[in-house]
Amino acid sequence: MAGYDFYLRLNKGEYMISKNYFNNAGLGSILDKILAGDRLSIEDGHTLFECKDLTALGTLASIVRRKMHGSKTFYVLNRHINYTNICINGCLFCAYARERGEQGAFQLSKEDIMEKLRSAPVAPREIHVVGGCHPDIPLSFFEETFVSIKSEFPQAVIKSFTAVEIAHFAKIEGISTIETLERLRKAGAEMLPGGGAEIFAPETRRKICPKKLDADNWLRVHGEAHKLGYSTNCTMLFGHIESIADRLDHLDRLRKQQDETGGFNCFIPLPFLTENSRLEIEHPLTGIDELKTIAISRLMLDNIPHIKAYWVMLGVKQAQTALHFGADDFDGTVVEEKIGHMAGASSDQALTRSELEEMIRGCGFTPVERDAAFNEV
Ligand code: SF4
Repeated sequence: MAGYDFYLRLNKGEYMISKNYFNNAGLGSILDKILAGDRLSIEDGHTLFECKDLTALGTLASIVRRKMHGSKTFYVLNRHINYTNICINGCLFCAYARERGEQGAFQLSKEDIMEKLRSAPVAPREIHVVGGCHPDIPLSFFEETFVSIKSEFPQAVIKSFTAVEIAHFAKIEGISTIETLERLRKAGAEMLPGGGAEIFAPETRRKICPKKLDADNWLRVHGEAHKLGYSTNCTMLFGHIESIADRLDHLDRLRKQQDETGGFNCFIPLPFLTENSRLEIEHPLTGIDELKTIAISRLMLDNIPHIKAYWVMLGVKQAQTALHFGADDFDGTVVEEKIGHMAGASSDQALTRSELEEMIRGCGFTPVERDAAFNEV
């Protein structure tokens, strides 16, 4: 294979590319594919995971990231609302869920939710609503709440409910998931967050969350949402008992769904946090594995525009590093987050706009405020 050096200028970033360097790292043919804009195969994904040269992986992911977004790193003024942790699914990895009546169980009323939104330090542009699969909160509760939210916070996009919750509401209401999505959309919801995807590989999924919506149905709900005009996000929970083949299968299924319905905005790699989980892990995730997985996600998901460095789960310093491993979105102000923190996340509960901007600038990137749909504000 020929060795050569050249400069690559991409949206203000300049890379001195040495083909020999990538050849020596075993990534020469993958570099060629990336420069040609070709899709990487699952075998390429295995080669990337086997590569020991973290810098080479980060550089490849940065080339793609710079090509797509230059030095821009996005953030949003958002507010999370976790409306309940009462859940019937009992996923083994979950540190958040409680049974009804159990100590620590909570359920917010409509007034509680409105009060939390009113007390947010800045008017949110994105309201992220997720919770457990509660046995009997009716869909009408959320329809009424969303109408009130939209009348008081018209500038905010409601990003609500994982595909798992959508399927749960459909089941308890005895209606289809399409009808559920239509009713919520009419009430003001515009986006779906990406949670509940966990890991798609059936055998592993059965072990960590046997009662949860399966992969095909998770993807089906997102496909339906895309067709109804929702944009959605997608996630992968990694660093538990899944294999590298499971991670690559997961990424491959997401990009195939995106080829079909095209509504995914952003992929969020979620590192598994072990605290308070019932899932026993032999080898806890390392920071290096986190960065590798983020970089490889950027490289494999050639048709999903954004990769999030979710500071709540990664911690802010690792999230900053992730910006050099393919991530281009820093999430946002968040304000109050319970799911990751009950699993042991040690990050703050909230960041201010100036803290976010300073962190992004401190890593050599340009902060860009966005709305929920990634339009620049
Ligand atoms: S991960 Fe979600 S669905 Fe599973 S138990 Fe926790 S709250 Fe319920």
